[in-house]
Formats: sequence, structure tokens, C-alpha cells
Amino acid sequence: DATNEEMWVEGGKYGSVDPCFPSKVVQAHIHNLLFRHHEERPLNYIFFPILMNVPNFLDNVMDGTSCPIVAGVPNVMKAAFTKEVDFYAARNIEYVDTGLSFSEPFLMAKRMFETWGPRLGITEDESDHAHRQGLMALAAFDSDLQEKGRAILETVEAENRIAILVIGRPYHSDPGINHGIPEEYQLRGFPIVSVRSLPRHPEFLARYFEKGSNPLDINDVWPENYSANSAQKVWAVKYAARHPNIALLDLSSFKCGHDSPTYGLIDSIVDAAQTPYAAQHDLDANRPAGSIKIRVKTYSHSLSMHQEALEDVAAKKEELSRNIDVKRLELLRLKKRQLQQRQLRDSVLQARIDDLANKVASYRVATGAEVAPAAHGLVNLKRKGPGGELVALSKRSASVAPAAPAE
Ligand code: SF4
Repeated sequence: DATNEEMWVEGGKYGSVDPCFPSKVVQAHIHNLLFRHHEERPLNYIFFPILMNVPNFLDNVMDGTSCPIVAGVPNVMKAAFTKEVDFYAARNIEYVDTGLSFSEPFLMAKRMFETWGPRLGITEDESDHAHRQGLMALAAFDSDLQEKGRAILETVEAENRIAILVIGRPYHSDPGINHGIPEEYQLRGFPIVSVRSLPRHPEFLARYFEKGSNPLDINDVWPENYSANSAQKVWAVKYAARHPNIALLDLSSFKCGHDSPTYGLIDSIVDAAQTPYAAQHDLDANRPAGSIKIRVKTYSHSLSMHQEALEDVAAKKEELSRNIDVKRLELLRLKKRQLQQRQLRDSVLQARIDDLANKVASYRVATGAEVAPAAHGLVNLKRKGPGGELVALSKRSASVAPAAPAE
């Protein structure tokens, strides 16, 4: 379930954990499972693994550890709901908090079998198969996210618009933790991308990162990159610093000890690159609606100005390129006349003139053509085709749809 006010108030009183807001939210979710879900559909197990290492897509990092609070919370939750009364045992629920590490897949498969083999009565082969399927599902989810992120970025690039990259932790997608701030921007016409949805295909990265550098390496800005999500956050800032259509929204939770070492670093990068940036640090249980509204309005206004500047630059570039073509056509025609005066003909020159004349004529058609406007604030997603042409996603799927059978 997404976090909500009622859940927080009901579950928060079992408090035995206070390092940061997200770790306290977990308590409300465990309470929700015990006191609500279990009533509707009895649970046998609550599986809350201690994750020591999480998946990390970066290269040459010191490690891919999860935040120690994240790793420790399953144990704390066991204590919170057993310290006076064992709420799990009272409901016949077993609390399972196996230690797992994504950086050691064989050990993880072994631990999963040791945990679930006896409980579910499955063989090691079956457990390993389920483990592999789980990892494949995770990879498929990741690649789907990147596909969507790429469609958003290619659309804003083509339309000279701005997308907002939310740099936060995975739990910042929960509307109860992000307080609906990304949605506020979406409503104002700025599409949202997350760190994991940034496309990481080498061909896409090569458009923005320097030749010869490894786009997935952040040692140039942060060598102490042992923590997976912090390192990915810093990488996303490097990405935004190179992409003209990305603005940043930095979300961080109250008392986050893992985000604080990145604040200064992120400031220096966005300062140097002049990347549009807004921070909402110290998010906690209270939703300061008024202050969120003011900040969203202010940042949206400055992003609109930035977007206008992008549109102006693009219009000037387009005009310049058209003027160059018109001038080139003029010069080629002059050359043709000079050849004719000397009774000469050049078929290659004629072909170039014809091509360019068609191109210039198409500019006039395009200028006068009616282009269906997008509904205000909406982004009609597009993807680049093999030849670099932009195809609307709906048309793209229609073009690959099988032909209807003949009647
Ligand atoms: S990353 Fe920060 S906010 Fe999240 S659990 Fe760790 S310390 Fe808490």
C-alpha cells in the first residue's frame, strides 16, 4: 500500500526507531499488514529481508551497499512488534528477516532456499528457478522503466521542453513519502523521470557523455561511492548536467544521514553546469501544503523561462540552417548558369540542385502546414526511429500491429 496519514498515525505509536522518516514509515506498514491486511486475508509470513547490497548499474564503484538504516530496519521491526506482546505469534504469522546481498547471487539463491525450502516444501531446483525468474522480472521491469524514460527524453528533446528528473531514493516514489510533489509538477506540464528510468543504453549515453569516458563511472566527482543509491543519485546529477532538457528536483527525507554527504557535491555540479535545480530536503510526516505550493509555483515559473530560452535557441538554429540551405541553393544555381555559359553540363550538380530545391520547398510547406497542437500541458510521447525520425508512440505500436485478416 502507499503510505497515508491514517496508516502513519495508527502505526507510529509502536515506535522503537527514530533515525529518519522513511524508517519510521516502515512501522506503519507493518502495522497495516498485521491489523488490516491480516484481518481481510490471513497472512502466514511477513518477509522483510535484511538487504546488505542492492543492485547497482554503475561501474568501478567501491561497493553497492544499501543504507545501514535500510539494512537494519527489518530487525528493528521485529523488536518493535514483539517487545511487549508478540503481535506476530498472536496471529500465527512468522516474521522472516533473512540477510540477502544482491552482489552475491549464488549466496542469495542458497539463502532463499534455506529460508523457503522447508517452509514451502520446495526443492533446491525449484527455489533456484524461482530466484532466477525473480531476477529476470527485476531486469525486465528495469528495462521497461528505461524505455519509458527514453520516450520522455526524446519527446522533450524534439519539442524543446523540460523534463524533471527526481533525484531521490526508490521509496520517494511513494506519494505518502514524496507528498505528491512530483505530481504537482506533472500537472503543470513537466514530465517526470526517475533515476532508474534514465536510459543507460550506450548509444544514448554517447550523445551526452564525453568520448572515451565511461558514462557509468562517477569516480571523477565522488570516489567514496560505496553506497548504491547515493552513488546513483550523484550519477543522475552528472547526467542532468549534460542534458539541456533536464531540470532537477532533489528529494531527501528528514534526518537522512546518507544523503547529507552528497548535498555539497550536487551543489557544485549544478553550479558548474547551470542546471535548473530545486531541493526539497527534510521531507517528513507533515505535509506543509502552503510551502509546497509556493515552491512548486516558483520553480515551475523559472522552468517555463528556461523552456522559452530553449525554444528560442532551437528556433534560431532552425532558421540559420534553413537560411544556409537557401544560400547554398542560390550558389549552386549560379554555378549551373556559369557552366551553361561555357556550354557545359554537370548531372551531379543538377541532382544536388533538385534535392536542395525540394528541401527548401518543403520548408515553405511546413511553415504553412497546420500542425495539430498537443493538449495544453500534455506530452505526446515519441521515440526516435532507426533513421532519426520521430514517431508518436501510439502510431509506432499501430505500425507494428498485425494486419487485419482479409474478409
Ligand atoms: S537513505 Fe537516509 S532516509 Fe533513507 S533509510 Fe537511509 S538514512 Fe534513512
